[in-house]
Amino acid sequence: MFRTCSIGAAVIILTLSIGGGTPPGAVRAAAAASISQSRSDPISDLLEVPVSTCDAASGFDDAARRNGDSVRTMSWSPFGRAEKGWAIYAPHVARAIGTHCAPESTGFAAALARWQVRRGFTGDGRTDVATLMSMKGEWQAARPYVALRASGVCPAPPASTGLTRLSAEEGYLGKSVEVRSDVARAYRRMLIAAKAELPELAEDPQLLRVFSGYRSPAYDDARCARDGNCGGVVRAKCSVHRTGQALDLVVGAAPGFSVDSSADANRLHQSQGRAYRWLLANAERFGFVNYSFEPWHWEWIGDGARPDTPQMQQVANR
Ligand SMILES: [Zn+2]
Repeated sequence: MFRTCSIGAAVIILTLSIGGGTPPGAVRAAAAASISQSRSDPISDLLEVPVSTCDAASGFDDAARRNGDSVRTMSWSPFGRAEKGWAIYAPHVARAIGTHCAPESTGFAAALARWQVRRGFTGDGRTDVATLMSMKGEWQAARPYVALRASGVCPAPPASTGLTRLSAEEGYLGKSVEVRSDVARAYRRMLIAAKAELPELAEDPQLLRVFSGYRSPAYDDARCARDGNCGGVVRAKCSVHRTGQALDLVVGAAPGFSVDSSADANRLHQSQGRAYRWLLANAERFGFVNYSFEPWHWEWIGDGARPDTPQMQQVANR
């Protein structure tokens, strides 16, 4: 089950929550200081963009204006469910095209144009459905499990001897979670880095804790039977959680939503948060890749971000 909410409503929620507080971190403060009055839009503010370096690309004024509209209004169904706008995915898009500029800036449009040209698109710098679906395809291709499932394989779970139970301090609200032992080691390495690099962790110790890891096929089957929606966008029939290589990490939640709510308002809130942005920028160093529909879901694909299990290796080598 999921609750639905429009992006517009979510933006209002974000505006309210940001309006009363001090932006976290010196970088954010510096970025906010450089954002001009004309860019007081909450999405732009959240993207932490120094406008002085993002508004200098000539020839992209029209694309920038259109992108500023489409980030809120574009109709598309990236994961089989209708969505309005692409603000939820804006951090992923920005990372893919190699920019820190806001969607409505000319710098963003120029970076997107470069990405488009490299892939055979007309480099108009506009975030249309074809461009973003192509980008989403690349994000999905980075997950070996997707190819594995496409080839009809549903992997067996690991032996129980290969699993490690995380500590109460690592599980969300003390929850008991098991993951594959090598994944636990990678997660712990990543957490050490996050503690050093992400001040928000000290403010909210629940951030980046694990609320789901290994789930046995029997457990998932029972959950499917109980909750329904199996085989849909929210719950897979053969979940990658059966491998012990998937972690659901706390990346915050919008007021009134749970940490695993796939409601658009919640996903937007999470995707604009510092914890998710840190993961997007850094998790790959530790072998984790994101399922972009769920800001909390990260899959370990091996040290150096290479496919790990023999089955995944097979798929990667095809
Ligand atoms: Zn998950």
